[in-house]
Amino acid sequence: MYDRNNIFAKILRGEIPCKKIYESEHALAFEDIHPKAPVHVLVVPKGEYVSLQDFSLHAPTAAVKGFFDAVAAVAKMLGVDKTGYRAIANHGADASQEVPHFHVHIIGGRKLGKLLPE
Ligand code: 5GP
Repeated sequence: MYDRNNIFAKILRGEIPCKKIYESEHALAFEDIHPKAPVHVLVVPKGEYVSLQDFSLHAPTAAVKGFFDAVAAVAKMLGVDKTGYRAIANHGADASQEVPHFHVHIIGGRKLGKLLPE
């Protein structure tokens, strides 16, 4: 099910570079290669989970807590905890999930408008 050759698995193994923002026991955060806003960071758990659905159902409680602590820490580091940000997790085909390793996009640094295009 989990593809160990996905791009974020390679980043986690240090096989390809990333612009690292933050790292903890449970998560790594790095800049998105195609940023959609002045702040666009991806937070990924270190464990092998395909998507939010997989992570929510199968990750140990400590890993889930550690992951969301990392999301909050990154938002604080980047100052968007004060100005506002959007956290997006795409799961599966209808959400156009591109990389099959669970990740949360932290997007901010400008007014983001409505949740989805009309
Ligand atoms: P998804 O659609 O899976 O939620 O989003 C995947 C994100 O990963 C996209 O925003 C894309 O720009 C980003 N991405 C894809 N390949 C790479 C890469 O090699 N490095 C980095 N930093 N981001 C990537």
